[in-house]
Amino acid sequence: MTYREDIEGLDASILMHPRVWEASGHVENFTDPMIDCKQCKARFRLDTLVELVSEKNKEKALKELDATLLDGDGSLDDKFTAILEDQDKSLALLALLGCPQCGNKGTFTQPRKFNLMFKTFLGPVDDSANIIYLRPETAQGIFVNFLNVANSSRQKLPFGIAQIGKAFRNEINTKNFLFRTREFEQMEMQYFCKPGTDTQFYEEWKEKRIEWFKSLGMTASKLRFHDHPKEKLAHYAKNATDIEYEFPFGWGEIEGIHNRTDFDLSRHQEYSGKSQLYFDDESKEKYIPYIIETSAGASRSFMAFLIDAYYEEEVNGELRSVLRFHPKLAPIKTAILPLVNKDGMPEIARKIESDLRPFLRIFYDDKGAIGRRYRRMDEAGTPFCITVDTQTTEDQTVTVRERDSMQQERIVISNLLTYLSEKLR
Ligand code: ATP
Repeated sequence: MTYREDIEGLDASILMHPRVWEASGHVENFTDPMIDCKQCKARFRLDTLVELVSEKNKEKALKELDATLLDGDGSLDDKFTAILEDQDKSLALLALLGCPQCGNKGTFTQPRKFNLMFKTFLGPVDDSANIIYLRPETAQGIFVNFLNVANSSRQKLPFGIAQIGKAFRNEINTKNFLFRTREFEQMEMQYFCKPGTDTQFYEEWKEKRIEWFKSLGMTASKLRFHDHPKEKLAHYAKNATDIEYEFPFGWGEIEGIHNRTDFDLSRHQEYSGKSQLYFDDESKEKYIPYIIETSAGASRSFMAFLIDAYYEEEVNGELRSVLRFHPKLAPIKTAILPLVNKDGMPEIARKIESDLRPFLRIFYDDKGAIGRRYRRMDEAGTPFCITVDTQTTEDQTVTVRERDSMQQERIVISNLLTYLSEKLR
């Protein structure tokens, strides 16, 4: 957000007035269909059961249900998901599949609605009048602060508010490492615009967001849009799409982009009794802005970047594991490695470390053979390793080794910061 003058940052509260979640529709609608296995009592989310079933079982069940489902376009997962969206068909399918936990067939409860918001109590008395919720998304904190931010930052429409922060959802099943957790990190941006300009900004943000993933090195062929058909749009949306990544376990959403119209601000105006009208200096009109939302999971996207960057390759008869992170994503930017712990090398290496550390995230490693140290840095995705060797003590140069090509160059110590800054940009 610091790259754009039309986007402001915000850090809103995790606990907000419970009316916020009534206005947003979460108290009423933020539910998942839940089913229980009557045999082993395991609990599942009906609409995402696809994540829990093996490929072999999916294929077998689809064949038994309707052999023609196996022909035609679309992946097995897409077909499976389409069936799970229809509750009658999905119960028939479940009877065939059996319980993902105990394998028992045909003994599931009817689906029930389960609200995903975590509840807690405000103050010392645990009674229902004091219930408050841990935020299930960061977006609502942005909506309720819209006018505060607009007035204090002196932004004019169109402009956006972005926020990174924790969100909490009492997911029925957590699965696939960071893909689905109950506590996760979101990065959301809400772009406020004049009604009538919303479709244009929706299209623009769709393109910008998929380009963002590509610009950080994510494989383009593993990214796609999944546009939501009109009849399946959420209650607040005029248009919606998911950016999906092809994980090893199938395609999964990493970010949602929605045209939320004036739904949110109108509802907050209604529930809070506070006007959310924006005064447009240019047209001298007052109106409730439309909102285009880009809602990404920071932890889920991080997992996609991690998987995408991971390679194993053979180098001189040995296996090399390497994380080919884009330099901007690499947690360690540069490692400093004295070849041996004597002959003045550690002193020079420590001096380079202290000169670079204010600017770059550095790791100092003097343990073990140099080859092993390079491999450890490859595994951590560190783009550059600086080695101080005998020649350094003679001519004030070091070797800089690049992670992906493993090429080494000699660089004068005083030029290191400029050299690395350019390469890492
Ligand atoms: P899903 O259908 O996978 O549950 P969602 O459609 O409910 O996701 P949104 O409400 O649009 O997700 O949330 C925006 C983003 O937050 C998602 O694209 C995803 O990256 C992330 N996200 C949502 N739920 C979780 C979770 N339980 N764990 C990790 N990340 C999540």
